Amino acid sequence: METINLVSDTATKPSSAMLEYMMQAEVGDDVFRADPTVNALEELGAKKFNKEAALFCPSGTMTNQIAIKCHTQPLDEVICHAYSHIYQYETGGYAFNSGVALQLLNGEHGKITAEQIEAHIRPVYDWLPLTKMVSLENTVNKAGGSYYTLDEIRPITQLCKERKLKLHLDGARIYNALIETNESTQDVGNHFDSISVCLSKGLGAPVGSLLIGDHDFITQARRFRKVMGGGMRQAGYLAAAGLYALENNITRLKEDHAHAALLADCLKQRSYADNILFYGTNIVFFDISGKYTADSFIEGLDQEQIKAVPLGKKTIRFVTHLDVDSHMVSRVVDVLEKMDS
Ligand SMILES: *Cc1c(COP(=O)(O)O)cnc(C)c1O
Repeated sequence: METINLVSDTATKPSSAMLEYMMQAEVGDDVFRADPTVNALEELGAKKFNKEAALFCPSGTMTNQIAIKCHTQPLDEVICHAYSHIYQYETGGYAFNSGVALQLLNGEHGKITAEQIEAHIRPVYDWLPLTKMVSLENTVNKAGGSYYTLDEIRPITQLCKERKLKLHLDGARIYNALIETNESTQDVGNHFDSISVCLSKGLGAPVGSLLIGDHDFITQARRFRKVMGGGMRQAGYLAAAGLYALENNITRLKEDHAHAALLADCLKQRSYADNILFYGTNIVFFDISGKYTADSFIEGLDQEQIKAVPLGKKTIRFVTHLDVDSHMVSRVVDVLEKMDS
């Protein structure tokens, strides 16, 4: 029986076509900016988001950390939602790397509004941190894959311009959002000072994220990448996977969303599941009740070679991705039904 991994879209492995493309990459020493494939990926990323430059980094954690480092000084403050990856899952790096505080906001569906942000910009006093940056996440992982539309982002961009705040997008799953809103990467780029995009989630590359912004920002970012130990040598083999992903794996994200919809629909009919949270992207959250605990439910799935993880005591997360095909989704649906009997 084939293992089905619903733990995360980070689980994707390179397809044979992607591997072949990687093997044929022309490479050089990227610390000297002499890797043509890395350069090509950075150029493509910048162009897609209508920005001047981009930087290939080993992880999305690094791209976010570098963005915070570039946009702030110690004793500054960054406004973001309490669900943000930069707060939840980056080891407190904002404090370690940049010496900044976060001001955490709550908001429905893991999102924040311009009004909320405006109400939390600090007045300037010696005893307060200086508000310097706002970070949005799109889609919002910890909210269950909810997403912002440009209509929601526009007033935030406007406010940040007026108040001289840098606006960063943690767009680890930005393509999952855009495939639903039918908005363009260029438009997204025009609304942010910096953008982080994961190549290793739903897009299917084994490693890597792009940090995208203007020339001066990326020049500074390159120095911070080096000091964080992220200067890579013949990284073109990895960048090739990113190029392949951007060329081939974007429109198919629709399939992941359709698969997640099937799982959400099935769960809505199960006696052991409630509070099913599904925003139309590739993530489904639900609470376990009745005959299962989160642990016993996960154990039941495990016996059918289906992998998932609990988030907290009773919440389960399913994530669909490139390595979960429609046959696998049918098998998961069968198992979910069988577990109800
Ligand atoms: C996965 C993810 C990242 C980056 O994670 P890495 O594992 O460091 O690449 C950043 N932000 C969000 C919202 C994510 O889901």
